[in-house]
Amino acid sequence: MKVPHNRLDRQFDLLKDEYLQAARQVLESGWYVLGPQVEAFEREFAEYNDAPFCVGLASGLDALILAFDLLGLKPNDEVIVPANTYIATIMGITRNGLKPVLVEPDQFYNLDPARLEQAITPKTRAICAVHLYGQIADMPAIMNIAEKHHLAVVEDAAQAHGASIHGKKAGTWGDIGCFSFYPTKNLGGFGDGGAVLVKDRKLADDFKMMRNYGSRVTYYFERVGYNSRLDEIQAALLRVKLKHLDRLNQQRQQIARRYLEEINNPKIILPQLRFGMEGHIFHLFVIQTEDRDALIRYCDQHGIGTKIHYPQPPHLSQAYQQWGLQRGSFPITESMADHVLSLPIYNGMSPEEVDLVIDALNAY
Ligand SMILES: *Cc1c(COP(=O)(O)O)cnc(C)c1O
Repeated sequence: MKVPHNRLDRQFDLLKDEYLQAARQVLESGWYVLGPQVEAFEREFAEYNDAPFCVGLASGLDALILAFDLLGLKPNDEVIVPANTYIATIMGITRNGLKPVLVEPDQFYNLDPARLEQAITPKTRAICAVHLYGQIADMPAIMNIAEKHHLAVVEDAAQAHGASIHGKKAGTWGDIGCFSFYPTKNLGGFGDGGAVLVKDRKLADDFKMMRNYGSRVTYYFERVGYNSRLDEIQAALLRVKLKHLDRLNQQRQQIARRYLEEINNPKIILPQLRFGMEGHIFHLFVIQTEDRDALIRYCDQHGIGTKIHYPQPPHLSQAYQQWGLQRGSFPITESMADHVLSLPIYNGMSPEEVDLVIDALNAY
């Protein structure tokens, strides 16, 4: 038996008939971009999160780019952001001419409130919290700091649909919550997609204007906008999945619970929970190990697929070589990039497949 890192066909099979019916309905409707399905999905995703407004977009990166645009900041204003994130978070900031101020993460791989407060300068205008791997950041502490210093908060919730602290969901703590519906995400579609959650109608309308060439009234253009619209077919498929999201997240949490309880090998450092299971929807199950290449080879030999999220932190990527940052600038982040490894976790993973991973890792 082989256990690949992910199997997207399994999550399709779980709800196959509902997906086929939803897709067929859109195909037969004659309306394919920004229509009744998108409006219904926006309403339902806002309701699921207990957020006032949702606006559907074409991707998670677009959600971040538009969020930092609509905060209305000035060039070179500073945005504090964790150094260990997926690079899209940073691109959303720099695409708007803003300056990301990187800070080292806490032991949960997320923005560290203490280091965040130390990084504040007179030029700081915003904070970007990322809920990495599906675990919500320490939002109560982060919001306290933001309020004290009058800073805007953008959440990158692309990996954390449905994670919460005392029932308050990721993406609803700050001013703008950014989501991706890329197929591998917990609420993944069957193509690209994204959305934002916001608190007031004016801001929601601004996102709608910007996603459609900067137009509020057809063929009248207020700003140089984007084409960042959500397809009807994606919205229809996401509506199907959203109805089952809590159950799908619980399935991943059950797999994670087994890994946490049953993997028992001093060579493997397991993830820690900051706010219990409620706070982590396990988009990824990420361990650390000293000799990662050896463990990857071993897993390969045992038919277990692994991946690295992410092998190179943004500050060392070629895309940001102009910053001139060398290895050693962010040692905690760099050490994570050198030692993290993601184990298989996906909807439709069988108990036997979970057994195989656990047994192999314990025998390593
Ligand atoms: C996936 C992801 C994004 C980007 O979303 P896309 O829809 O792929 O553009 C941004 N931030 C994080 C943390 C992500 O995981």
